[in-house]
Amino acid sequence: MSLVLGIAVDVPLRRLFDYRPPPGVDPATLQPGVRLWVPFGRRRVTGVLVETRLTSTLPDSKLRPAIAVIDDTPVIEQSLLELLRWAADYYRHPPGEVIAAALPAPLRIGTAALETEERWTLSAAARTGELPPLSPRAHRLREMVAALETRDAADEATLAALSPRWRDHVRELEQRGWVLRLREAVAPASPRPPLLGDGPQPTPEQQRAIEAISAAAGQNAPFLLHGVTGSGKTEVYLRAIAEVVRREQQALVLVPEISLTPQLVARFAARFDAPLAVLHSSLTDQERLRAWRAARSGDAPVIIGTRSAIFAPLARPGLIVVDEEHDPSYKQQEGFRYSARDLALARAQRLAVPVVLGSATPSLESLERVQAGRATLLELPARTAGAKPPAIHLIDLRKHAATQGIATPTVLAIQRHLGAGGQVLLYLNRRGYAPTLFCPACGWAAPCPRCDARLTVHQRERRLHCHHCGSEQAIPESCPTCFEPVKPVGQGTERIEETLAKLFPDVPLERIDRDAVRRKGALEAALDRVTSGAVRLLVGTQMLTKGHHFPDVSLVVVLNADQGLFGTDFRASERLAQTIVQVAGRAGRAERPGEVLIQTEYPEHPLLTQLIAGGYDAFAKAALEERKAARWPPFARIAVLRAEASRREIPTEFLDRARELAEALAGREVEVLGPATAPMERRAGLYRAQLLLHAPGHSPLQRLLARWLPAVEELPEARKVRWSLDVDPLELF
Ligand code: ADP
Ligand code: ZN
Ligand code: ZN
Repeated sequence: MSLVLGIAVDVPLRRLFDYRPPPGVDPATLQPGVRLWVPFGRRRVTGVLVETRLTSTLPDSKLRPAIAVIDDTPVIEQSLLELLRWAADYYRHPPGEVIAAALPAPLRIGTAALETEERWTLSAAARTGELPPLSPRAHRLREMVAALETRDAADEATLAALSPRWRDHVRELEQRGWVLRLREAVAPASPRPPLLGDGPQPTPEQQRAIEAISAAAGQNAPFLLHGVTGSGKTEVYLRAIAEVVRREQQALVLVPEISLTPQLVARFAARFDAPLAVLHSSLTDQERLRAWRAARSGDAPVIIGTRSAIFAPLARPGLIVVDEEHDPSYKQQEGFRYSARDLALARAQRLAVPVVLGSATPSLESLERVQAGRATLLELPARTAGAKPPAIHLIDLRKHAATQGIATPTVLAIQRHLGAGGQVLLYLNRRGYAPTLFCPACGWAAPCPRCDARLTVHQRERRLHCHHCGSEQAIPESCPTCFEPVKPVGQGTERIEETLAKLFPDVPLERIDRDAVRRKGALEAALDRVTSGAVRLLVGTQMLTKGHHFPDVSLVVVLNADQGLFGTDFRASERLAQTIVQVAGRAGRAERPGEVLIQTEYPEHPLLTQLIAGGYDAFAKAALEERKAARWPPFARIAVLRAEASRREIPTEFLDRARELAEALAGREVEVLGPATAPMERRAGLYRAQLLLHAPGHSPLQRLLARWLPAVEELPEARKVRWSLDVDPLELF
């Protein structure tokens, strides 16, 4: 009887593939997590061994042997492999794709997992004089042979010193049988405890948090570190990590977006005199592989990365930190739709290490986790170094005249703060010049030809852009329907920049949004101009709300809070409150007292009044009550089945069938809602609709999904649409 190997192959099928062991390989020696070459159709591909079994559902005659084993030791260690299997199940995603997401690209095509070094040695035949002698005129070749005669083997550096064309010479010697090439794994450098830089003396609250985290070493202990912006959360991470490093363990730190937070990485680099492994999406494959190896060997005591770094291998795990845990970028929005924050909790549990979720504006999920006793709350109530919380005021746009989106009291406040030597930051979550190009004569508004949306005016480029599908066109001279003149209506950051330049012609001004910092290095340069004080006025989008420390900003203006007040999504108000509080947190981070102005036409809206009277905590308390009453997450679990197609009726037909299947299986616990079309039904030429599954908890939902999805996959209608399942979706469309 021979064992069957259950292997994950990177293809979009929700199952493992069965193979017999490669010829001559004892399956008992194969550990789950090693890679193998396997035949797949007519191709040869790599796969990862997930399990060995006694039986297969395939008949014996259909079972093919794997071709060869690639690794001696697993590329994915046991506990990570278990996490990935669990995640494939939980998110109902093909296991091969889930496992591939955890590996740097070169490892998916069979590159050695360990770093190898090439060395060359004289062949036995050369050493015993069995080969025909080299020509006396082949000086270079003879020199190489002479150099190799005196040692067991020579490395690249030794040979390169002999001749600039050493590679050619070595290749020739190899071909003639004189030289053999060896590949040896480089032994990981023995971990040396890195030197630790100094930080400020922790406050008593920081000290308490650091001690609680350190006392939980070696245990599965989730913490929520809730502290207002500037309260010293990063300092708590740094100290807790220093403890981990002192114990010769590793810390894994997740951050929302590294390109937006160069300051944070710099702070880590300054504190730990050790190689940091930094993992993010703009690395080359080789850079990513290097960081992966440093994490796996244990050479890097601290690993910092974005979402997918949650899959980084760890030789000696000690702590996981998720900074800005509320940030939506932790949820992957396509393909394998995982939440890195949720996987951090699951991974820490498997590894038995503490996990710290940090935020000034925690997600309602994490607050509920604390309420339910599944996480410990650590609070940093005050700002450090005597900085005071900013005063927040509403500017009623119905009462005050506004020039291009900036109300008169706002203009006066800007003047006052600039006069007192402060910097001013204006936030508007809309790039471009104006959101609409409008014809006052006939009411035409430039539409996107491929979406149910309007085109945004980009004045500087003289073009119209769709922010949903990316399509572009020139700005028309006049209205295409009535030929009257058209005009931009509403404000984007580009227009605010223009208005500010007119109002404050002598004040250095910077715009920070995706258009302004497209060039590599442009964002860093712009942030430097802000922190150095060269820039006094700053206008920008969401990019400005992320963790930056601008010590001189004393006034923050939220130009339009109203876009999010009446969102259709059940998370719209949570997002808006987080954004307002985060951007407000850029004000008065150092000695200068801060002020925040929020422009709105709805000053009585409860979200705004709660934020002003009681801060984020008051908002969150009320929002949690509402979610509970309405039975939305975190008090329920949802999943959505999305579908899109080029004809309007097709997605709904598919979802109607899927709904019938779900209702037949669902029982009473899971509610099936929809299908509903998206509020913006057509995007990039495709019509979109979705079905929502709503369950009281994740077990009934998982039980249904496990039986339902295979049936959905088999529907004939499924072949006519692009469909995807999103478990724990962040956005409903
Ligand atoms: P957060 O991560 O909560 O925004 P930081 O850790 O970045 O806060 O701290 C904000 C500022 O206060 C930083 O400049 C930091 O160096 C400083 N800081 C943090 N903790 C202390 C402390 N205990 N004493 C003095 N300054 C501190
Ligand atoms: Zn017109
Ligand atoms: Zn479009």
